[in-house]
Amino acid sequence: MTGPSGAGKGTLIELVLPRFPELAPAVSATTREQRPGEEDGVHYWFLDRDEFDRRVDAGEFLEYVDFVGNRYGTLRSEIDRLRESGKAPLLELETEGAKRVKRRVEGAVTVFVTAPVDELERRLRDRATESSGVIDDRLSVARKQLDEVTDFDYVVENDDRTRAAEALAAIVAEHLGSPATMARP
Ligand code: 5GP
Repeated sequence: MTGPSGAGKGTLIELVLPRFPELAPAVSATTREQRPGEEDGVHYWFLDRDEFDRRVDAGEFLEYVDFVGNRYGTLRSEIDRLRESGKAPLLELETEGAKRVKRRVEGAVTVFVTAPVDELERRLRDRATESSGVIDDRLSVARKQLDEVTDFDYVVENDDRTRAAEALAAIVAEHLGSPATMARP
C-alpha cells in the first residue's frame, strides 16, 4: 500500500485487516521519533541512525528510503517472519519503496491510495504531530507523489472511507492465495 501522507492508508488498513486473517502488517523500521501512542515493534521498529545504517550495510533491508529527514525501511526478517507463520505480508510504504518492492518481490501487488490535495492538507494539519515545517515538507512530497499514481497496479480514491475500504478489500480478496516470492540480491 502506498500513497501520500494523509491519504488514509493506515485507516484503510485498519478497516480491512480484520476481514483477512491470512494478511499481516509488516512492521517497518524508522529513525523518526516515536509519536505518542506508538509502540516499538508494533507501529515501527524505532532505530537510531547508526543502528539503521549498520543494518543497511549488513544487507538486512529489502528496501529503504530517506523521507522528510528520516529513514524508513522494510526488514527482510520481518517479511520472512510473516511468511514462515503462513501470512501474506501487508506493507505500507511511500512511493519509491513501493516501486522497489514491486521490482524485487515477484507477485507483489501495489495499491496507491489517494485523496484530493485539500483533503490531504487538512488531514496532515489535523494530525498535527509534526511541526508545521515538516507538515509543509510532507505536503510538497505528497503533491509530487500524486503524479506517480500510474506506476502502481491499483488506485483507491479515499474520498469516502467505507467505499474505499470495500474497494481495497476486493483487491485483497482477488490476490490472496497467490503468494509472492522475494528475490534475493
Ligand atoms: P510516517 O512518518 O507518517 O509514519 O510515515 C511517513 C511515510 O513513510 C509514509 O508514507 C509511510 O508509508 C512511509 N513508510 C513507512 N514505512 C516505510 C518503509 O518501510 N519503507 C518505505 N519506503 N516507506 C515507509
